[in-house]
Amino acid sequence: MDFAFEPYRIKVVEKIERTSREERQRLLVAAGYNVFKVPSSAIYVDLLTDSGTGAMSDLQWSALMSGDEAYACSRSFKDFEDTIRDIFGYKHVIPTHQGRAAEGLLFTAMVKPGMVVPNNIHFDTTRANVEHVGGIALDCVDDAGLDPRLEAPFKGDMSLRKLSQAFEKYGKDRIPFVMLTITNNSGGGQPVSMGNAKAVAAFCREMGVPLIFDACRFAENAWFIQQREAGYRDVGIKDICREMFALGSGCTMSAKKDALVNIGGFLCLDNDDWAQAATNLLILREGFPTYGGLAGRDLAAVAQGLREVLDPDYLAYRIGQVARLGERLDELGVPHLKPTGGHAVYLDAKRMLPHIPQAQFPAQVVTAALYVEAGVRAVEIGSLMFEHRDPDTGKLVPPEMELVRLAVPRRVYTHTQLDYVADACAKVMALGERLNGLEVTWEPPSLRHFTAVLRPVGGGPLLAGL
Ligand SMILES: *Cc1c(COP(=O)(O)O)cnc(C)c1O
Repeated sequence: MDFAFEPYRIKVVEKIERTSREERQRLLVAAGYNVFKVPSSAIYVDLLTDSGTGAMSDLQWSALMSGDEAYACSRSFKDFEDTIRDIFGYKHVIPTHQGRAAEGLLFTAMVKPGMVVPNNIHFDTTRANVEHVGGIALDCVDDAGLDPRLEAPFKGDMSLRKLSQAFEKYGKDRIPFVMLTITNNSGGGQPVSMGNAKAVAAFCREMGVPLIFDACRFAENAWFIQQREAGYRDVGIKDICREMFALGSGCTMSAKKDALVNIGGFLCLDNDDWAQAATNLLILREGFPTYGGLAGRDLAAVAQGLREVLDPDYLAYRIGQVARLGERLDELGVPHLKPTGGHAVYLDAKRMLPHIPQAQFPAQVVTAALYVEAGVRAVEIGSLMFEHRDPDTGKLVPPEMELVRLAVPRRVYTHTQLDYVADACAKVMALGERLNGLEVTWEPPSLRHFTAVLRPVGGGPLLAGL
């Protein structure tokens, strides 16, 4: 079969408008060089995120119509709960409106000020939610996961050395649980091996501390295990998922990723007391425990999406499409993180624009230029998103990598459209030293990348000579 063959036919289409370079230039300036504030009607190919941007199937749309809107104990909740228990295997299933709400419940209930939560790499909302309750979000990914040139099969793996150092430094009383993000979004959508998950779980057991998964892309992670890890070639995707989740005591999940819906999430926990504490907060903030901030129809669409995401043909297409974009970039000489992840290609902005110092946001410059030159919306995963204060020294620390994420929505764009994106990246890189750095003129207290206002350094143009 063809590489990345689409295992579907297109039933409904949505028109995309074209814009001129001048119009995009004007819109970007008005948006403070922050593509989060550019109207989607002026975007040609939108790779800002794969979160909630996927196309639902005919069966999911049907589920929306047949959803049960009863306030309590609806049929749709039953379907949601049964499907999640079948795959994840945890005792308590707590619906939330999206992933960060699940994080908020878990961290508010379990993390006290001064506590430390290790993770391979915390996603931005995860880090922010830990810090919001006074905790310390600690990244313990293996060094391999921080080397953008290294070709290795499981660059999401956690370093057992860093993890045990964290326990030595802070003591296990300050560590309420350990998290493992599958796949590791902020480290390039890289998978975590079953072997590593088992080792982390064994270490956690030894320490008497639970392991909680950030499960947003669990099916993509399972597909990588099936393809790359010895002994898993003939194991089914669902069985791999079950084996993985059996290693932990719960998970947070954004259904906007691997549940193939536009909104939704959940928190799963085995521990009755933790689940009770989270449910108390749920009722306060989200809704009754059988809908948690979602409509019955949304729960039904999540259940259907979770069944569909386990299809090996879907996963081969999904991950194959992302890999294909990476190969195009290779042909054009555009540096990106190797190997390509499950949901996105991450351009290496430090190597694309080596003349721009990290303090001038090279990844944000690439993001801004991609929009102006081609109408492509990507997202910065570099200093703007991840610069943070060292908890010990109080100094600002830039992240290791300056990445531009091209996140591919699920079942939305064709190979032709992604070829256009690859060409756009090459075009931006060719602008080279004509591109100037950026500086922040306003920022909020946290999660600044969403709303920060920037301008080219010194107030000049982004692209010299125009
Ligand atoms: C998207 C994401 C989240 C947060 O989920 P939302 O639905 O956007 O709130 C948490 N962790 C990871 C790894 C994610 O990719």
